[in-house]
Amino acid sequence: MSHSPSTLEELNTQIVSCERCPRLRTHCSEVARIRRRAYIDQEYWGRPVPSFGDPEARVLALGLAPGAHGSNRTGRPFTGDGSGDFLYPVLYDAGFASQPIASSLKDGMKLKNIWITSVARCAPPGNKPTPEELRNCTPWLDQEIALLRNLRVVVCLGRIAFDGLLAHQHRGGSRIARAQFQFAHGAEFTFPGGLKAITSYHPSLQNTNTGKLTRPMFLRVFMRARELAGLD
Ligand code: SF4
Repeated sequence: MSHSPSTLEELNTQIVSCERCPRLRTHCSEVARIRRRAYIDQEYWGRPVPSFGDPEARVLALGLAPGAHGSNRTGRPFTGDGSGDFLYPVLYDAGFASQPIASSLKDGMKLKNIWITSVARCAPPGNKPTPEELRNCTPWLDQEIALLRNLRVVVCLGRIAFDGLLAHQHRGGSRIARAQFQFAHGAEFTFPGGLKAITSYHPSLQNTNTGKLTRPMFLRVFMRARELAGLD
């Protein structure tokens, strides 16, 4: 086990070389080797995806896992797939992102007051990490949250991300009654230590193509996160 990182940058470096989940490491490498026809001339990232954003962030966006041909290809959360094409324009409108389009590590995107991560950092087959793989990844989230010293609000993108945050709170000693922490789009919660959470449907194509999650609904979540974080 590597030593505890003292900065988010150091943490990201450790995450990128993580090998705790053999099934996921093999899958990501295979996807990177075979590639999708549309990206056949690109070199895929193919490794655990490091987090991205402003180390001074008051808001954390917590997703599920990298997309096989999205961040597993580009090496940055939500970059280069349909979920990211839905998320970044909203972050731009909400004042967190410098531009609406996220296409690659070199696209010039800068984030302010937000940090983006996920409960699993390697693309899983069928977008479904196993419970054991999610558990393997928890130390990264615990260390990350400890290093985000200004953190006030976590936006949980989907139920699995919210469960990941609840488990994180539990590991930290919060004795919370699960019944009071039920996932619903736009629900808000405050944990015993003062940290707040907002839950949102995940911006997966399944949700955004069907209208289950619309752009105004998603923007309201991030505008509310700004408010709860005391920004503006
Ligand atoms: S999912 Fe997390 S714990 Fe598993 S190999 Fe990837 S970074 Fe490591």
